[in-house]
Amino acid sequence: MLDVLRRIVQEVNGARSLEAALATMVRRIRKAMQTDVCSVYLFDPAQDRLVLMDTIGLHTQAVGHVTLRLGEGLVGLVGQREEPLNLEDAPAHPLFRYFKETGEERFSSFLGVPIIHQRRMLGVLVVQQKDNRRYDEGDEAFLVTMAAQLAGVLAHALATGTLNRPTRADGMATFKGVAASPGVIIGEAVVIAPPADLDSVPDLIPTDVDYEVRRLSEAIAQVRNEIRGASERLASRITTQELALFDVYEQMLADASLGQEVEKRIREGQWAPGALADVVRRHVKYLERVDDDYLRERAADIRDLGRRVLAHLQEENPRTPDTYPERCILVGDEISVTMLGEVPREKLAGLVSIRGSSTSHVAILARAMGIPTVLGMVDLPLPRLNSAQVILDGYRGRLFVRPGEELIKRYQHLIAEEQALAKVLEHEQDLPSCTPDGHVMPLMVNTGLAVDAVGVLKPRISGVGLYRTEVPFMITERFPGEQEQARLYREQLEGFAPLPVVMRTLDIGGDKDLPYFPINEANPFLGWRGIRVTLDHPEVLMVQLRAMLRASDGLGNLQILLPMITNIDEVDAALRLLDRALIELAEEGIQLARPRVGVMIEVPATLYQLEALAARVDFFSVGSNDLTQYLLAVDRNNPRVAELYDSCHPAVLAALAHLAQEATRLRVPTSVCGELAGDPAGALLLMGMGFDALSMNAPSLPRVRAAIRRVSLASARDLVDQTLAMPTSREVRAYLGKCFSDWQLDHLLPPKDEH
Ligand code: PEP
Ligand code: MG
Repeated sequence: MLDVLRRIVQEVNGARSLEAALATMVRRIRKAMQTDVCSVYLFDPAQDRLVLMDTIGLHTQAVGHVTLRLGEGLVGLVGQREEPLNLEDAPAHPLFRYFKETGEERFSSFLGVPIIHQRRMLGVLVVQQKDNRRYDEGDEAFLVTMAAQLAGVLAHALATGTLNRPTRADGMATFKGVAASPGVIIGEAVVIAPPADLDSVPDLIPTDVDYEVRRLSEAIAQVRNEIRGASERLASRITTQELALFDVYEQMLADASLGQEVEKRIREGQWAPGALADVVRRHVKYLERVDDDYLRERAADIRDLGRRVLAHLQEENPRTPDTYPERCILVGDEISVTMLGEVPREKLAGLVSIRGSSTSHVAILARAMGIPTVLGMVDLPLPRLNSAQVILDGYRGRLFVRPGEELIKRYQHLIAEEQALAKVLEHEQDLPSCTPDGHVMPLMVNTGLAVDAVGVLKPRISGVGLYRTEVPFMITERFPGEQEQARLYREQLEGFAPLPVVMRTLDIGGDKDLPYFPINEANPFLGWRGIRVTLDHPEVLMVQLRAMLRASDGLGNLQILLPMITNIDEVDAALRLLDRALIELAEEGIQLARPRVGVMIEVPATLYQLEALAARVDFFSVGSNDLTQYLLAVDRNNPRVAELYDSCHPAVLAALAHLAQEATRLRVPTSVCGELAGDPAGALLLMGMGFDALSMNAPSLPRVRAAIRRVSLASARDLVDQTLAMPTSREVRAYLGKCFSDWQLDHLLPPKDEH
């Protein structure tokens, strides 16, 4: 049964339109369950009714005409109760409703299950049978599983369908994701894929089929040439058997085989790279299942050939900086830091991706760069988005595709308001971060993920609270050497001197991978990450520590921060390496005092080891992003659970308040460098709790400073007392919203959701 299930889901998944998906679904399910009828009803929120969308077994003229309110008839009952209904004698049920168009009176057995995606009822799946058949537990379980699996596919197809057949008169479609970087922008969508990766080529509908076919055959011809060239170059060095393989490759690429299949796929409505990826995937899947070693190995060859052809196709029409639209909204399955680099900064206006969530690193980078971003848009139909006009709302996590005039006007107004606010706040930026009752709250910046305008920032901050050193490691093709690192670190240290700069040792793992040092794990956030990696590779950590120390020579403003600390041993081991680095440098003639060293408080275990940590280090820095993820057991990158991820969860607030108190008792200066510090409401809470400094992305400074300058420390403390007594994040957020409103500071918080 599992096999049947998987096959049906795969087939539905591969359907090119909503109609095709529904048709496949009802036909396959009827066959698998050996029953007379299978129908699917979808809920149309505009009509507030369930609509019969497809059926096999009932009269097809009923499709689109039979509609039911929730609670009306058996199907309506399933939709309303959101639970299965299994009846042997359906007409005997008091809610049975007869629709002449369906010819339904002939069927007595009924089994209906709701289709639910992310708590939203999308529709109802029904099977029926003429004779009295008691659908057994197995049937019911099968249909429930089927509906649960199909819900995601259907949600996606529905979104696509919405774009195909606009349900709204103005043709607009709306998509929801996770708000990852604030701001609003009206621009043009550009769908991108990572280079030469068959698995991430988006589906796109070709605008010119002949052109797609032409460029495919050119790309294939180029790869054939390459192969011929390689085989000639290698002729004298490899065996004839190995050489024969090149002939096989050439044949595979010949127009009569792979090429022809790809062309067929293009003509079915797929652009060349997508068609190539589809065909290659199909062959690979087939070959991998074959019980023959030789053929199984050919799967890798096909994949490699496919990648080569794809590389040429992608080369064919690369976007150059001037072919990006003026206000480019980059849309992709997943957006990497490198992809961001491909679009000229002045044209990059927004980011949207299917994967990722608000504290994934691309989100942090986007915030640092001030680019409105929505991630985790799981239902986004990439194929139909390219070149569409869109409104991206980074506050509410919305994307409006082909918006109507009225909405555009509304958003233009919002954008104008934002710009006016930014101007007003800008005037305050050189004023001290001090509350009306005289409490000075030092503000620092997080750097390393973006080029920060040091000159403008420096007079406005108390230092760099977190320099993420991962980026220099991400943009090279190998671990950067000591000199290379030292040069970059020197720029930071010198740029901000005499202000302190907290440099964190390499924090890779989790969602931060180095292309030349891949870490593949089932649970990367619980795995080899941060200090765990660098202590296992002391050669990498030593080079980094030496580079940091060397860079600080004569400046004295370096502080070193250790990420992902869980055990006291890790601190001891890192300190030993630091001391060794100091001795080595001294031997080379560079005498340096040991810099201040701190640990990140981001693994919950550290909350219970504060005394032991305090005895070893000079400061704490709270990573509220990870602390939230680990305390709540919610992956910070997973859009499915994004709504559960909230740094204002009562447990997180309680942990933070306890930490602030303990740090004060232990006299360890403690700052917060996670995203909570850059949220005006979060910043006030942290100030009220007694943290010594807040470190955030530069674009968050104006709002946080404005909040601090208007709210007294006494009010912030009261805010903490009130919220700590609240049982849910929702209540905390609502209370914060109310207070900001009472203080007439609503404009500092994200606009409220109205869609
Ligand atoms: C954190 O975890 O809050 C933090 C600041 O570090 P990162 O986001 O880089 O993991
Ligand atoms: Mg962290």
